[in-house]
Amino acid sequence: VKRILVAEDEIDLAFGLQVNLEVEGYSVTVVYNGEDALVAASEVRFDLVILDLMLPAVGGFDVLTRLRQSGRDMPVLILSARGEEVDRVRAFRAGADDYVTKPFGVMELMLRVRAILRRGSAPPIVTPAGRMLRRIGTIEVDLEDRTVLRRGGEVALTPKALDLLLALLGREGRVATRQELLRTVWGYSHTVTTRTVDAHVAELRRKLEDDPSNPQIIVTVWKVGYRLRA
Ligand code: CA
Repeated sequence: VKRILVAEDEIDLAFGLQVNLEVEGYSVTVVYNGEDALVAASEVRFDLVILDLMLPAVGGFDVLTRLRQSGRDMPVLILSARGEEVDRVRAFRAGADDYVTKPFGVMELMLRVRAILRRGSAPPIVTPAGRMLRRIGTIEVDLEDRTVLRRGGEVALTPKALDLLLALLGREGRVATRQELLRTVWGYSHTVTTRTVDAHVAELRRKLEDDPSNPQIIVTVWKVGYRLRA
């Protein structure tokens, strides 16, 4: 059973979310302020946090930032009354996985929850020979000998492009900002910029996508970064 933490101070909304999520079969914990959200997340490994931004005690942004700083990488879906692009971008940059503007339809929210949990839980495929493979559409990545197959044929990638692909895989379908990718793949070197990330994404698309101009595997999240399609 997937465990979901709902941090929402509007009691009626929190209750409605709880009921709907429980009907879907999820185990739900509700908290009404940011401090309790942090405590709950430190005690239980949740599969998803639904986080209101305007929370008493500790606000939603701070909760999200502290979760990420303490290394908790569970998906976080933001609820916010503010739907402007600047707010959404700020939330994604802080490590959010999805952003829903209030008021929202319950059906839509349930679909988003399902989509996040699905992409978060794609397990590696273990072949009969005991190899660990990850599959994204027509691509197979062998995590042990670092080879990539496209439609069964091996693809030659530069080492950095391969590292980048593995970093994206590690995000389990969630968005990675260019800065994160830069840090993960290139470290803190000052000789590379986020354009380096874009150049290597272009290489990956050229070699992995059926139509690099209409990418289906490495998706651009506008103004934020990239993610792998589940
Ligand atoms: Ca609120």
